[in-house]
Amino acid sequence: MLFNVISDAFMEMEATSKRQELTLILSKLFNQTPKNDLRKVVYLTQGKIYPDYRGIELGVADKSVLKALSIWSGVDIRQLETMYHDLGDLGNVAEQRLSKNSQTTLFSQPLTLDHVYETLESIATIKGSRSLEMKLRFIVNLLNNSSPCESKYLIRTVTGRLRLGIADYTILDALAIAFTKDKKNRIYLERAYNVCSDLGEVAQTIATRGLQAIKEIRIQVGRPVRPMLAERLDSAKEIVVKMGGVCSAEHKLDGERLQVHKNDNKIDIFSRRMEEITAQYPDVADSCRAGIRSKNAIVEGEVVAINPETGRYLAFQELMHRRRKYGIKDAVKNYPVSFYCFDILHSLGEDLTAYPYAKRREILEANLIVDGKLHLVPRELTDNPRKIDRFMRSALAKGCEGLVIKDIESPYRAGAREFSWIKLKREYRTGFKETTDLVIIGAFYGKGRRVGKYGAFLLAAFDAVNDKFKTVCKIGTGFTDEDLDTLFAKLKVQALPNPDRRVESNMSADVWFPPRIVIEIAASEVTLSPIHTVARNSIRQNAGLALRFPKYTGRLRVDKSPEDSTTEDEIIEMYRSNLKGRSPLKQP
Ligand code: AMP
Repeated sequence: MLFNVISDAFMEMEATSKRQELTLILSKLFNQTPKNDLRKVVYLTQGKIYPDYRGIELGVADKSVLKALSIWSGVDIRQLETMYHDLGDLGNVAEQRLSKNSQTTLFSQPLTLDHVYETLESIATIKGSRSLEMKLRFIVNLLNNSSPCESKYLIRTVTGRLRLGIADYTILDALAIAFTKDKKNRIYLERAYNVCSDLGEVAQTIATRGLQAIKEIRIQVGRPVRPMLAERLDSAKEIVVKMGGVCSAEHKLDGERLQVHKNDNKIDIFSRRMEEITAQYPDVADSCRAGIRSKNAIVEGEVVAINPETGRYLAFQELMHRRRKYGIKDAVKNYPVSFYCFDILHSLGEDLTAYPYAKRREILEANLIVDGKLHLVPRELTDNPRKIDRFMRSALAKGCEGLVIKDIESPYRAGAREFSWIKLKREYRTGFKETTDLVIIGAFYGKGRRVGKYGAFLLAAFDAVNDKFKTVCKIGTGFTDEDLDTLFAKLKVQALPNPDRRVESNMSADVWFPPRIVIEIAASEVTLSPIHTVARNSIRQNAGLALRFPKYTGRLRVDKSPEDSTTEDEIIEMYRSNLKGRSPLKQP
């Protein structure tokens, strides 16, 4: 397959932000792709070469790419830097230079998908003292054989910033249309994706082996399962009514969710975002190796920092000391953790997800050798709201965030956010301000003490139906100088001159960002807004909703992907409960 078929499709996709059009362009591309190449094409449309859980990323530094562009074009690097400054995108620099560089056409050969993919693989995986030099050589080789349009997308891919803004679900829709001619079949593809977390695998399977094979994709040890998620309600009474009987009220620990895969002595630990993070938790890996009886199993739980003297749970921030590449040994010693298990998805080759929760918990209890570091999440079985309230108070006293209340009849539904799990959080109980998890999509330069960094941010909630990020507040409160420094360092390398394709905003920020970083915000109320785009026209014509008096809580939600942020529907729900006068957002 020639790479220009793919880059032409990318160009078409770039010209539209309508999900339906994107889906059709994609499905056409998938139909044009030889079946055995589909896996590669799917990864490339996402700007990747492997599924996320492999943890192998492209992300060559801008400086190195400029150097490669300079070697290839013979143009002085300073001149290219100026072009980059003016155009704001290295892909466009390559495209413009290539349009001018006549020499390239002399020796070039058409680029094939295989050649591009293999070269990108080499760029991502090469190690050693000469790796930088080799990477530059690979990039120059690609440029030598590219058309201007191809070079634009290749350079964006190499820097890890392709940003076509195609959501996983758009790809699933396109696959359903391309290979079954019926978009409704996307539900089967989605189930398969939730189970295997690999869009390439789903694409290849549907193309080569059809829908029946998709239905047969099963959980596998070593491959992360997309986690089941919780809805929220604001009183124990409501929750018990919703559950309709005895339920399992469990401590909601304020830590990090881990999915532990055990295969003989090999342990793989995955985060909620399905990154492989075994190296951060060698102590949890050791505990699970010894403490999970089954030879192979998948167990889920929450890892939490603990105070070794009192045994009390510590706040999530303490775990951030474990998010490092180097010095893990010291961090393990200085920041001890315990792992509290709450579910088991697989044991001894058997997929347990279809069993009711009560049965899975039984299997989990029989499977764990509880010790100082490995525990079962404390829980109470009850249908009495008063008992739940009492359990909630004791959980809060121990340092929990609240409770998660679970339907004991429910299967484990990978990737689903349903009322089979419901969270009851501290805020509802104590009248604290409600918190939301919002995505930074723009920023404003600081003044006074904040000169030289961003002083305020534009935040968005996620519209899951249309795959858009819609603005809900501008915020400059609650940030320490250190927070602003950290955010500036993280964000400045991602700055865009215009809003990302998935962003809907009526405000104009100084700089824009792709939706990536999620932060926790406390606010006092949700109100109608003439400017913000979240829930626009849902409550009132020409009005959206906004958070009032938003304040940063200090919590960077590295464990959440942008698609895990607070949704438009949740903001609407909060506005409605405001009106009912029993708002989770109301202050005491
Ligand atoms: P939230 O992040 O607010 O949507 O809450 C859901 C998260 O709570 C899960 O992804 C887990 O990381 C965490 N959690 C803490 N304790 C439990 C528990 N007992 N059962 C399920 N999830 C829990």
